[in-house]
Amino acid sequence: MKDNKIKVPFSKPSIDRQEEKAVLKVVRSGWLTTGNETFKFEKEFSDFMNKALPSDSKNVVSLAVNSNTSGMILALNACGIKEGTAVITTPYTFVSTAACVKHVGADVIFCDIEKDSYNIDADKIEQILIENEKNKKYNIKAIIPVHIAGNVCNMKKIMQLAEKYSTKENKIYVIEDAAHSFPSLTDMGYAGTIGDAGVFSFYATKPLTTGEGGMVCTKDESLAKTMQIMRLHGMDRTAWDRYTSPKASWQYDIVAPGFKFNLPDVLSAIGRVQLKKTESMYKKRKHITEIYNKAFKELDFVTVPPDGKGNAWHLYLLRLNLDKLTIDRDAFAKKMQENGIGISMHFIPLFHFTYWKNLDPSFTKENFVNAESQFIRTITIPLWPDMTDKMAYDTIKVVTNIGREYHVR
Ligand SMILES: *Cc1c(COP(=O)(O)O)cnc(C)c1O
Repeated sequence: MKDNKIKVPFSKPSIDRQEEKAVLKVVRSGWLTTGNETFKFEKEFSDFMNKALPSDSKNVVSLAVNSNTSGMILALNACGIKEGTAVITTPYTFVSTAACVKHVGADVIFCDIEKDSYNIDADKIEQILIENEKNKKYNIKAIIPVHIAGNVCNMKKIMQLAEKYSTKENKIYVIEDAAHSFPSLTDMGYAGTIGDAGVFSFYATKPLTTGEGGMVCTKDESLAKTMQIMRLHGMDRTAWDRYTSPKASWQYDIVAPGFKFNLPDVLSAIGRVQLKKTESMYKKRKHITEIYNKAFKELDFVTVPPDGKGNAWHLYLLRLNLDKLTIDRDAFAKKMQENGIGISMHFIPLFHFTYWKNLDPSFTKENFVNAESQFIRTITIPLWPDMTDKMAYDTIKVVTNIGREYHVR
């Protein structure tokens, strides 16, 4: 019997006494829901993002939400994505990216990823747009790029495409799924602030966490205004405003059928501390990545993850060179787990799932060959700020031993 005890956990949030103290302060304050703490978090998040924007850029407005999923629905809704419209996105993502498009009633058009990077292929987006100009099959209103593992998509080209194929009556929006890309710095600013809107996730495993939570960013004041109202019941006043402004607290108007997507102060308190640790957490992830890269570059049966400028290194996507191995990815992953290494898979392409397969007969692995070929060779291995160098070396040892044992002769 193999020793099944986990030696290296897959992921662990970087939480210490500072977060504990911040939460306790809010709990004792008597104000638990969205209020001053959340506004401060939004302001500090915006300040962080604005520092990196090109000098000619408008500033970012940040709205705290209870998840990336909620933020994505808000952004799609504010951009007018609804029944009768369509959105181009990648099948290589977590399901919520595409599910949100369905939630607002629009059609999903999947576009394959690049051969190496896991990110949506901008040239293939253009092919879809050209084809659609001819056959007018869809009313394409948005593109959702996902910066997989924190490695930024070809945003320059994607922004150009959105502009080129927009018309006076029909703007094509770019909404970034920035769930992995905090903080991915480019010369256009941080990923998540480049498109018309960008959505971050603060889920427990993400690079900045509040347990559950998210932030939606935009430079467009009218989108910001709509999202702010829709975030809380379609109300023209926030609860904080109702209880702190001299205007009577029971007076408000409802201007649309809104959602309930606000982030409570207890969680924002965690977020504010996490935000201060951004640089140190990033540096530690980067350090572990360098240990991994150095070791794995020596092995002929693995390929290190793609890397681009400003990569946030949220995940370490280790790729098996299957032609060098006598076992497949699943068997390799199982052996890693048996040897105490926590692993995960990012992502099962959406065309593998019953709902998505049944939705459109073209959602097959044959139509998205890059997504499929990356999926069947990728294992996500431990990468988190507080993991020790020893944990990284333990992981490397296990990978090396399995690869040597099952190497083709
Ligand atoms: C985690 C994740 C989401 C969803 O984030 P939530 O905050 O859990 O809603 C969306 N997209 C990607 C790529 C993710 O990894």
